[in-house]
Amino acid sequence: MTPKLVFDYFSQINKVPRPSKKEEKIIAYLQNWAKEHGIDCVTDETGNVLMRKPATPGMENKATVVLQSHMDMVCEKTSDCTIDFENDPIETYVDGEWMRAKGTTLGADDGIGMALQMAVITDPTVEHGPLECLFTRDEETGLTGAFAIKPGFMSGKYLLNLDSEDEGEIFIGCAGGANTEASLDVTMVELSKQYFPIRISIDKLRGGHSGDDINKHRPNAIKLLSRFLYEASEKYDLKLVDIQGGNLHNAIPRQAEAVIAVPFADKENVRVDFNVFASEISEEYHDEESMHVSMESTTADKCINDEQAQKIIYALNAVDNGVYEMSIDLAGLVETSSNLASVHLISKEGNRASIDIVTSQRSSIGSQRKAMSIAVSSALRLAGFKTTTADGYPGWKPNSESKLLKVAVGTYKSIFGKEPKVRAIHAGLECGLFSEKYPGMDMISFGPTLRGVHSPDERLLIPTVEMVWKHIVAILKEIE
Ligand SMILES: [Zn+2]
Repeated sequence: MTPKLVFDYFSQINKVPRPSKKEEKIIAYLQNWAKEHGIDCVTDETGNVLMRKPATPGMENKATVVLQSHMDMVCEKTSDCTIDFENDPIETYVDGEWMRAKGTTLGADDGIGMALQMAVITDPTVEHGPLECLFTRDEETGLTGAFAIKPGFMSGKYLLNLDSEDEGEIFIGCAGGANTEASLDVTMVELSKQYFPIRISIDKLRGGHSGDDINKHRPNAIKLLSRFLYEASEKYDLKLVDIQGGNLHNAIPRQAEAVIAVPFADKENVRVDFNVFASEISEEYHDEESMHVSMESTTADKCINDEQAQKIIYALNAVDNGVYEMSIDLAGLVETSSNLASVHLISKEGNRASIDIVTSQRSSIGSQRKAMSIAVSSALRLAGFKTTTADGYPGWKPNSESKLLKVAVGTYKSIFGKEPKVRAIHAGLECGLFSEKYPGMDMISFGPTLRGVHSPDERLLIPTVEMVWKHIVAILKEIE
């Protein structure tokens, strides 16, 4: 497999355990490796490793370029795999054009980025100006390294982030994000025996990532459920007994359920309405093939008091969800969005309970993200919720004037005879944090093609490694 040096380093890296937050072994490996090769290497308090290499002769006047990857990997395995991720190596194999691992994530996210850096810094045939290689810690579970990096640690003018997953695509921007959480203390009251309790649920939606998939016509289970609650509360004397939906803050909720109660006389009418509703939503979302809705009788002795129950239903319907605005600079890029991620009724002592809601807002423009959080908070506060919006993480605003991008596009065209796609993503990247701490740093992100990342199905398209290698080498030669 070529380039041999890159694949040799990748196989060495895969012998070193490196789960997120447990990077001690890979840090030590990088430090020793730099020492063996006579490369200047420093590690900051957080564990980010920076290697420096002087320019090749005649290239000393060029600006410094940083090559960057993250050293941790997501450790997922199949249920029959017995690996100990803290001690055992990743075992890889070749399957046609793809490289895979036996029962585990491959670690090409972002081990292949690390291997590319190590090959660039040691291959004597690569011509480059002053070079820095940054390896960050714990990208996958908190962007810990990128959050903690200090201004001045790197000195480069340009940065090539090697953590993207589609060869032929160059990323020039990402979204920032923050969660807005809301809580409302509610009083439960006795449910009269004149009411008939019913459990309704919406389940098995596709869901997806709340950034990347927010524009893909994926329904939000909580939103669908809330809509039915509103319609039913308009027609019937509806009591809200329970509501639960969603799980992860960064996922579009795939399931939601509520227990409601209506007067006995209305129970058949509610069933008819629910069937009508179910056929409406399955028509609207006819691509949700596994969507499953159900309604069944249940038991209950308490419900939320009428006034608060109505406000909760209004709030869940009023709160913004999905794409809010598209970018005017980059066609097809979602600029601002929000995801209603979860709602849970939590029972407390006696007749007390709370409704806890988690939402998350994203935007490639920081002030737009704030505006979106304000909109979400306001809808919830009108219903009496207390809300807090976390600090979140910053976005990386596309810079259409980027000199690095110009060189990257030009070299790509001259090597491969075709245009690369220039894109931004509606999710977080470490570049967002770098752009906050190193204003003016000119950055792009790209890498070989990976599929199934973060799962045991992770695989690397072997020929794209050489393409990315050639592209990096050309950029380093060309950039001033
Ligand atoms: Zn990654």
